[in-house]
Amino acid sequence: MTHNHLIDRLSQTHHLSLDEFTDLLVHRDESLQTYAAGLAAETVERHYGKKVFIRGLIEFTNICKNDCYYCGIRASNSNAQRYRLSEEQILACAQNGYELGFRTFVLQGGEDPYYTDDKICQLVQQLKRNHPDCAVTLSIGEKTKESYRRYRKAGADRYLLRHETATPAHYHHLHPQTMSAENRYDCLRSLKELGFQTGAGFMVGSPGQTPEDLARDLLFLRELQPEMVGIGPFIPAAGTPFAQEKAGTLDETLFLLSIIRLMMPEVLLPATTALGTIDPRGREKGLLAGANVVMPNLSPKSVRNKYQLYDNKICTGEEAAECIVCLTKRIESVGRELAVDRGDNVRYTKQKEDQYCV
Ligand code: SAH
Repeated sequence: MTHNHLIDRLSQTHHLSLDEFTDLLVHRDESLQTYAAGLAAETVERHYGKKVFIRGLIEFTNICKNDCYYCGIRASNSNAQRYRLSEEQILACAQNGYELGFRTFVLQGGEDPYYTDDKICQLVQQLKRNHPDCAVTLSIGEKTKESYRRYRKAGADRYLLRHETATPAHYHHLHPQTMSAENRYDCLRSLKELGFQTGAGFMVGSPGQTPEDLARDLLFLRELQPEMVGIGPFIPAAGTPFAQEKAGTLDETLFLLSIIRLMMPEVLLPATTALGTIDPRGREKGLLAGANVVMPNLSPKSVRNKYQLYDNKICTGEEAAECIVCLTKRIESVGRELAVDRGDNVRYTKQKEDQYCV
């Protein structure tokens, strides 16, 4: 495979086959990666200018009924100190975030049965009442379509649910038998049908993952056409079955960010906290490789270090206001600017306008 051949493939991500994506990933080298990042940066600028959108992440519970092998807050990790924020605390985090300029709130948590659909709906409604100009995103795992419908009716705008891997056999290597890959994919399809701006995604370098698995993730994304894609390196977490496994790499994650940007030019693509954890300038490098979102933490300082999905997670000691100052500097250091609007997916917005303006 010649270098030029691979370069050509970067401009054909809309059509590449499983084998062609796999080749790209297997033959990645520094020059190919730099070239991909350059194209991806041009692409994101064409659609979103220099803007980087911020999402205020509220990690409202680390109690989880699931037992994913990679995750630090899995049910059977007895190292985890469990907490759950009250509705008042969550609303106060959002208020604080609003004053700091956030216009999107992401409620993320383990699958905590305490938070029934009634409670989630009430919370969403209250958030939308307090901040009608803000988007509310949920990231609370697998639910029935009926539950998703209720959240949507209550006013939730977006939903993040990484598919984790599009290879069912690999999914079963990462999760206990009680969990089903098909159910996770079905959840994503339901979310799209219900009109959520939907986020899928996966970990890079999870134990046992092959380049072909990653290629399948790309095909999955191309088919689903989510509005957001969250990817980050796998990082081992103490007290989990994968505690001794190797982390995913910065370079492979950056290359995948670029490919995703090229394949889905309008996608909202975060430079994740996990990327910032494996490299001190990981998030800046992510922005240079095609990312256009950052998700700082709005959770109260007292619980920050308890939402440990993986070891050495960054930003667990700062107040939200401090995070904004630090992130703004980072964003500006790579020639970009922090955006204060809701940051909707431009293709989604266009489709909605077309629906209502015919
Ligand atoms: N319970 C919610 C939120 C999950 S946490 C849900 O099911 O969607 C958000 C994401 O963190 C997960 O989807 C997973 O991809 C990622 N994550 C979990 N453990 C991780 C680890 N050890 N390293 C890197 N990312 C991890």
